[in-house]
Amino acid sequence: MSETSRSLNFIEQLIEEDLENGFSKKDLRFRFPPEPNGYLHIGHASSICLNFGLGLRYDAPVNLRFDDTNPAKEEQEFVDAIKKDVKWLGFEWNTERYASDYFQQLYDWAVQLIKEDKAYVDSQSSEDMAEQKGTPTEVGKESPYRNRSVEENLKLFEGMKNGNFEEGTHVLRAKIDMASDNMLMRDPIMYRILHRAHHRTNTDWCIYPMYDWTHGESDYIEQVSHSLCTLEFLPHRELYNWFLDEVCDPAKVRPKQREFARRNLSHTVVSKRKLAQLVEKGVVNGWDDPRMPTISGLRRRGYTPESLRNFADIIGIAKRDNLIDVSLLEFHVREHLNKISPRVMGVLNPLKVVITNYPEGQEEWLDAENNPEDESAGSRQVPFSRELYIEQEDFKEEANKKFFRLKLGSEVRLKNGYIIKAESCTKDTDGNITEVQCTYDPKSKSGSGSPESLRRVKGTLHWVSIAHAIPVEVRLYDRLFTHESPDAQKDKDFMEFINPDSLEVITGYAEPSLKEVTAGERFQFQRIGYFCVDPDSTAEKLVFNRTVGLRDSWAKIQQKN
Ligand code: ATP
Ligand code: MG
Repeated sequence: MSETSRSLNFIEQLIEEDLENGFSKKDLRFRFPPEPNGYLHIGHASSICLNFGLGLRYDAPVNLRFDDTNPAKEEQEFVDAIKKDVKWLGFEWNTERYASDYFQQLYDWAVQLIKEDKAYVDSQSSEDMAEQKGTPTEVGKESPYRNRSVEENLKLFEGMKNGNFEEGTHVLRAKIDMASDNMLMRDPIMYRILHRAHHRTNTDWCIYPMYDWTHGESDYIEQVSHSLCTLEFLPHRELYNWFLDEVCDPAKVRPKQREFARRNLSHTVVSKRKLAQLVEKGVVNGWDDPRMPTISGLRRRGYTPESLRNFADIIGIAKRDNLIDVSLLEFHVREHLNKISPRVMGVLNPLKVVITNYPEGQEEWLDAENNPEDESAGSRQVPFSRELYIEQEDFKEEANKKFFRLKLGSEVRLKNGYIIKAESCTKDTDGNITEVQCTYDPKSKSGSGSPESLRRVKGTLHWVSIAHAIPVEVRLYDRLFTHESPDAQKDKDFMEFINPDSLEVITGYAEPSLKEVTAGERFQFQRIGYFCVDPDSTAEKLVFNRTVGLRDSWAKIQQKN
């Protein structure tokens, strides 16, 4: 959908309202704020397209901000992967920022809050603090340390920073209201002690700021005008604003937090923590396993950035959480690959065909169009000879009238080639068909212009010449989970729904034009689906990932509804 043709989403409407009310367009600024604790997934793609899309629409800067306040879970590997994925999706950030760049500023502001008696050091166990927190219907209890003097708080907080205390012995809390209806306002923790090296600040710090204390202040430092996050942060908005009240200069832009619904995709999980489990437990072969809903997995699977952007655009943003069927994602990649992928022939489950009236030892090269959707893609030559492979499922000894493939006594056209007729077949001792003997009509060559070449037969099959075909490893993927929402089942862990048959590895046979391909190249294997060259490929053995089959299951789902 083009930018102008669709109606404004509710975030854009909100921004329009702000502009109408006098907010200056030149002060618009956005950010995409991943925590570098894993690889980005398809849910993040929605957030990326939203934030960077707003940047493009309003010609406003968008920062890439790493929310790196938890050294226990964050790594440089994840920072690098995130940058690569955002770039690959086709977006450019204005500046690369890190919450850890603001540790000193955040510390100074915390000291200011202590001085104003708005923060205090609590020295209870986390269990005691949790107990005093109360419940949504029951007010909390004040900590016995709540009324420590400013001097004592300053001394303790400095001691925390200087590494004088063990983890878990003290925290810094905002002094707000233990009776607030909003549990998050009941003296939230601002800092905890963590004796951990950070991937950027190393051992400079042994206290780390919490998300709520960090996020809004980072937005403010960067002068982000609209800070968009997912719905679970709605109850945090009050706290976001409370913290901003403490530091905001009225002459500057005051960031606004607004929420949109998390996107969930069917038959998978979109949570870095859960995806990390799949990697750690060896259910998949890494974050970029083509079965993963990560951007890197989808890229390796053969998805294009355009198809992911189109998908994100079409589903748009919502105010309520919902589940998007994975077949809609597949619809978008199929649609894009149909336009751009060169067509080739490959046979996945080979059945030998012998053309008995084609001279032994003879070969010829047939002209084959590369992409009927794109004339400029030109054509290539494919070799034809007496012995071919077709798909096992394309031949039956006998079949009814609706079977438009090869059966004894009837004809089909070989794609780009001749019309053949099945005369007889051979079976092994178990009754499996091992070879089909055919005759061909020498005058029926496609594109030759002869009357026979124009003769219409019902079926067209793909094939490869056995002598010329190259054996390739083909990885066929299925849904990673058997349940459409594996992580929303009562009393069941999402790991219980792993599909044991999500990967099938077979040897297929491809036409020789594929000899020279490189990792990442995408093709349509005619009549089968879209395939992409995997980086595991070597000079000796090419590996293809099936991106998606040709058949559209999304249309079927639409019809049913
Ligand atoms: P995860 O649980 O997968 O780690 P997260 O929200 O903790 O997700 P962040 O790295 O904090 O991950 O997310 C960066 C941004 O992407 C945030 O603004 C977050 O709200 C948004 N985001 C994360 N997951 C989704 C999703 N499924 N749909 C839409 N936006 C998302
Ligand atoms: Mg997070």
